[in-house]
Amino acid sequence: MTITGRLEGRYALITGASRGIGRAIAVRFAREGATVAINFSGSHDAAKETLRQAQETTGGSGKLHMIVQADVGDEHAIARMFDEVLSAWGHLDILVNNAGIQSEAESHVYPVDEYRRILDIDLTGPLICSQVAIRHYLSRPGGGTILNCSSVHEIVPKPGFIAYSISKGGLRNLTRTLALEYADRGIRVNAVAPGAIATDINAAWKDDQEARANVESHIPMGRAGTPEEMAAVFAFLASDDASYVTGQTLYACGGLTLFGEFKENWSS
Ligand code: NAD
Repeated sequence: MTITGRLEGRYALITGASRGIGRAIAVRFAREGATVAINFSGSHDAAKETLRQAQETTGGSGKLHMIVQADVGDEHAIARMFDEVLSAWGHLDILVNNAGIQSEAESHVYPVDEYRRILDIDLTGPLICSQVAIRHYLSRPGGGTILNCSSVHEIVPKPGFIAYSISKGGLRNLTRTLALEYADRGIRVNAVAPGAIATDINAAWKDDQEARANVESHIPMGRAGTPEEMAAVFAFLASDDASYVTGQTLYACGGLTLFGEFKENWSS
């Protein structure tokens, strides 16, 4: 497939880009011409593999792709990450808040420490990263853009995953509030809401034929999505093709948010 250089000359920082959707975004952005900073918190080797793929897709054109370690649940680590990226490039145009985790327990016994940890990574981290990015965007002409990786669970409740549900619901208003606040200053803020995507966060079913068939039976399009399908949506929203789009969540979910139970009439 030929991909146009819609992000040529842009500099993008993607959190949680050592695997999954974040890796696919980094590689897709590089293919579209961007220089990418690949944030990771765990495996250095996995981040290096994302870097290798980004460099390969760029065809060794000398882009200053980089990897940068930081736990986005830690505000000091976030500050160091931006210092590292901005001192390497002196410039940032695109922030993608992609990193995220989830964990399961019934809400009445959900450990408060765990709740705080998930909110720190999935919601407060994106806010703090956005604050730093916005201060940079406001400091020079040209504006910039922020993309949040939300979820269908920003509007669909997810029992047993109370912290995740709350953080993704919060991301919706983070997106909309920042979009409105900075709309007249050249800053666009949008979100992508994936449905069920075959990544490690879904280790419970992604490689188990029976469990996966069960998941896919609930999806109107009849299949899980791929990280690359998510990356394509991020690339659109990051590019000037979406120059008049702000404050929106684009649901990339195979129809999961279409109330599939209503496909056949069961009422009158
Ligand atoms: P994944 O588990 O493969 O990737 C998550 C990434 O976040 C990993 O690279 C991980 O190292 C990183 N990460 C976790 N904690 C971090 C921290 N404290 N600091 C920095 N990085 C950290 O899963 P994924 O599906 O690629 O998830 C990416 C995003 O997509 C998440 O925000 C997730 O909530 C969202 N999402 C995924 C699905 C899905 O079905 N896969 C659906 C909806 C939303």
